[in-house]
Formats: sequence, structure tokens, C-alpha cells
Amino acid sequence: MTLLSGQPFVAILSYHEYCLILRCDAYAMDLDKKSKVIIDLTGKIVLVTGSSSGLGAAIAKYMARAGAKVAVHYHSGKDRADEIVNEIKKDGGFAMSFYGDVSKKDDVMKLFSEIDSSFGPIDILVNNAGIDGKRELVGDDVPEDWEKVIQVNLMGPYYCAREAVKRMKPRKSGVIINITSVHEYVPWSGYTAYSSAKAGLSMFTKALAQELSDYGIRVVAIAPGAIKTPINKDVWGNPESLKDLLDKIAMPRLGEVDDIGQAAVFLASDLASYITGTTLLVDGGMALYPDFKHGG
Ligand code: NAD
Repeated sequence: MTLLSGQPFVAILSYHEYCLILRCDAYAMDLDKKSKVIIDLTGKIVLVTGSSSGLGAAIAKYMARAGAKVAVHYHSGKDRADEIVNEIKKDGGFAMSFYGDVSKKDDVMKLFSEIDSSFGPIDILVNNAGIDGKRELVGDDVPEDWEKVIQVNLMGPYYCAREAVKRMKPRKSGVIINITSVHEYVPWSGYTAYSSAKAGLSMFTKALAQELSDYGIRVVAIAPGAIKTPINKDVWGNPESLKDLLDKIAMPRLGEVDDIGQAAVFLASDLASYITGTTLLVDGGMALYPDFKHGG
């Protein structure tokens, strides 16, 4: 594809066979010329943790569609990660798979140095990897289970952000996106570790954004509601619990992984250049107290 200044936008539309086209040259951002506003991450290197499945896989694909080189990270299931890489390549994008346990500092350091060698230093980090943990009531629980959730969902993003910051600060640019949850706001009985980790990740987002604001680095969070992925298949896979879940959402549907992929490319892009230290809820109104929808 060649993009010439003044070239009609329609020429870009033919490059990818997507309904949503995410790539263009900077010229397209010049509103005086009435060009379409679209998202361009060409030349950016992105790491999406836990991107062999669910939300992470969708975020990785959207980043690649916007022109970024994507490190598809996996913890288990190299095959699935390689499938995502192949899908991205088939769509004309660039990706490679990388292994690591985000709850282990040494694994994370190794992961980043492998990405350095293959791609160069990352520009965008998406801290997506996470687990729900078991449903356990405090007192009847096993402390090691609590620790594990905190280790993956809070220490993991910290270890990754720490490595990302080392690479972003000298270049005075970068974006860190933390995937929290509606449960950074909404308490979840039986999942105190998960709720605490996500609320902690939300405050980490704010404090780190403040710390990095002089370095051209933005830190933001996305709080998904109920999105159809393997993590909650036991809920949406069962008609009774699906109905119960839908009753908790203001809009009449579950979220799709695309809802999160689209939010992530926007926040990663310069369209969001004045947004830092905040959480974008992508939850169809789950946090709006849907019980009050019909008054009461
Ligand atoms: P998922 O199970 O498909 O994805 C989780 C990913 O994290 C997997 O790829 C898994 O391999 C990886 N992972 C788990 N432990 C890891 C470890 N120790 N090291 C590295 N990677 C590890 O589920 P998902 O729904 O796609 O979840 C992605 C993120 O979104 C999670 O942080 C989750 O808490 C959050 N979230 C999901 C929903 C939802 O409804 N699906 C809602 C709110 C928040």
C-alpha cells in the first residue's frame, strides 16, 4: 500500500478486509481536510499478556489491525498462542508468541528481554493476564489461593509495568493499559481476592499515571463487565446462570471480546492522548445498579 498526501481515504479501505479499518497516515488526523478519524499504531510494539485466549487474543488482533507489531504472550497453551499469531499474519499483521508466568519476576524479566531481542523495546503494554480464583469465603478459605490471585492479578501487572517503564522512560513515551474489572468497584462475595486485586490494580493505575506523567507515559485501565470468554464459561454456558447474569447488566446482552479490543486500541492511540490515570468501564451498564432500571 502506498499512501500519498491527499490520496482519497477509499484507497486505505481496500488494504484490509475489515469493516472497521484502523490504519491510516497521520494526514488522516487533519480535521481541516475532513478526513476520517481512525486509529494508527503503525510502528508501535505491543505486549498483551495472556493473549492466547479471551480478551487478550481480541486485544492482540485489534492492535495488529491498527498496524502494531504484537507480542502474543501465553502461560499455558503455546498452540493456541501460535494460532493467534497465524490469524494475525493471515490478516497482514505482524506477531510472535512469547512464554512467561507473570506472577514470577524472573519470568517477566526474561519475557521482556526476549521481546527486546525479537522486536525491540515495547511502546504499549496491556496487562491482561488474570485469574478469578476459586469461590471461597474468608475463614473457610485456603490462604494460598488468595495469595495466588493477588500474585497473578496484582503482582503480575506490577512486574510487567516495572519492565515496561524501564524501556519507556528513556524514550519519554508509552502507554500501559491495565485490565481490571467492574469488580474494582462492585464487591463480589466469595471472590474477595479477585475484587481486592482489581481494586488494587485500579489504584496502581492512578498512582503510576501520576508518577509517569512527566515522561510522556500514560497509564489507564479498562474495567470489563461480563464478557463471553473461557474465564466465565461455566456461567454463560448454563441457561439459569446466564439469565441471572443478564439481569445484572443494564444493556440486554453479554459483552463480546471485540468490545474490549476496540476500547484498547482507542486508549493505546493518540486519540486518547489526554487520558491518563482513569478507568474506562466497558460493561453495558453493569455498574449502573440495573435493579433500579425500572424505578423503585
Ligand atoms: P481467559 O481465561 O481467557 O484469559 C486469561 C489469560 O491469562 C489466559 O490467557 C491465561 O493463560 C493467562 N494467565 C493466567 N495465569 C497466568 C499467569 N500466571 N501468567 C501469565 N498468564 C496467565 O479470561 P479473560 O476473560 O480473557 O480474562 C482476561 C482478563 O480480563 C483477566 O484479567 C480478567 O480478570 C479480566 N476480566 C474478564 C472479564 C470477563 O467477563 N471475561 C470481566 C472482567 C475482567
